[in-house]
Amino acid sequence: MEKVQMTTPLVEMDGDEMTRIIWELIKEELLCPFVDLKTEYYDLGLENRDRTDDAVTAEAAEATKRLGVAVKCATITPNAARVDEYGLKQMWKSPNGTIRALLDGTVFRTPIQVAGIEPCVRNWEKPITIARHAYGDVYKNTEMAVPGPGVVELVYTSDDGRESRALVHRFDGAGVVQGMHNLDASIASFARSCFEYALDVRQDLWFATKDTISKVYDHRFKDIFQDIFDAEYAQAFADAGIEYFYTLIDDAVARVMKSEGGFIWACKNYDGDVMSDMVSSAFGSLAMMTSVLVSPQGFYEYEAAHGTVQRHYYKHLRGEETSTNSVATIFAWSGALRKRGQLDGLGDLVAFADQLEEATLSTIASGQMTGDLALITTLPDPQKLSTHDFIRAIAGRLEQMREQL
Ligand code: NAP
Ligand code: MG
Repeated sequence: MEKVQMTTPLVEMDGDEMTRIIWELIKEELLCPFVDLKTEYYDLGLENRDRTDDAVTAEAAEATKRLGVAVKCATITPNAARVDEYGLKQMWKSPNGTIRALLDGTVFRTPIQVAGIEPCVRNWEKPITIARHAYGDVYKNTEMAVPGPGVVELVYTSDDGRESRALVHRFDGAGVVQGMHNLDASIASFARSCFEYALDVRQDLWFATKDTISKVYDHRFKDIFQDIFDAEYAQAFADAGIEYFYTLIDDAVARVMKSEGGFIWACKNYDGDVMSDMVSSAFGSLAMMTSVLVSPQGFYEYEAAHGTVQRHYYKHLRGEETSTNSVATIFAWSGALRKRGQLDGLGDLVAFADQLEEATLSTIASGQMTGDLALITTLPDPQKLSTHDFIRAIAGRLEQMREQL
């Protein structure tokens, strides 16, 4: 069988723990037998980040700006325990945070729906895509413990030396304080990414903040979205028969629960972090969620929405059998290959990405799945497969599909 050809390499960002194991299996079983895989490889595993003083993360992000499309494995964001575990030089920052800051994009996360895995919210008939702003707020905060009585103020000093101040709090005793920021430019590109994506997939766009309480900060988000919508997108939305809808975050949460799905929900950074886990779990599993970072310049970085599945990795290291779900990581690869194919005009590569997804979903629909799905499926007598066997089962189907071509 002829292998599917590529012209431009993908930026490949390897990662950590169980997802690193899965990464290798996917390449070995699902990609290399079928595709003449071209990648520019960056090892974002924690050991190599430590060895390179985290330079490798920035290099991978720069490569994404050069080549346009990246695929990323889940990576450890170190905490104190990880610093001890890996003997790190320092507590390196979240690679996702670093990459998002460099690409200034919006993260779109969509549940992967498949027959036999029903959302636990009965009325959710269609996927809900979360569009998470990927810059600023609490993820770029500065915080301080206030040791005792005293005053905390916000001070802005303009470049020509003028000062303005706002009282945060007059402390009577110890406490904590946090400063955070966002940028009009980043909010505007968030808004444009969302409007563009909504037009692309022809779905309504919802956006929500807490502007009644945060009358300057959150209100700025609301205003920028509305201004850009009115000036640049209102007509295109009307032509496409879709709607932009703004409401308060608590109202949005209530409406989302009662909706039938099928829309994009734009969220501020923290809301998106939290809500994407809620939406993905309610649709079935954290491992059934795609995630793509879309930059306003049109760079794409595909990844899984879940972490490195540490608990499964330790089982694996003890020699025990694991049943870790690889679907989101497979879809990160298929998403990246499809986008590469579209950009380079390679119909075969696009078709292969479709087949890889189809083979994955039909494997599950046939009753062969990993443990997380076997627990919740409505299919009778599901067969729980190991991490490797599940990928092998997909490979078997993929081979059959390719032979029928
Ligand atoms: P996690 O890796 O997402 O796993 C949390 C739990 O969710 C797992 O223990 C497992 O539950 C279930 N789960 C997640 N993905 C699964 C999959 N593919 N198949 C089956 N079950 C799955 O989160 P974590 O354990 O909190 O974090 C581990 C590491 O990942 C941390 O070091 C964190 O920094 C990193 N992280 C990275 C990213 C990223 O790179 N995008 C995102 C989040 C976290 P059971 O154990 O009950 O089976
Ligand atoms: Mg999260």
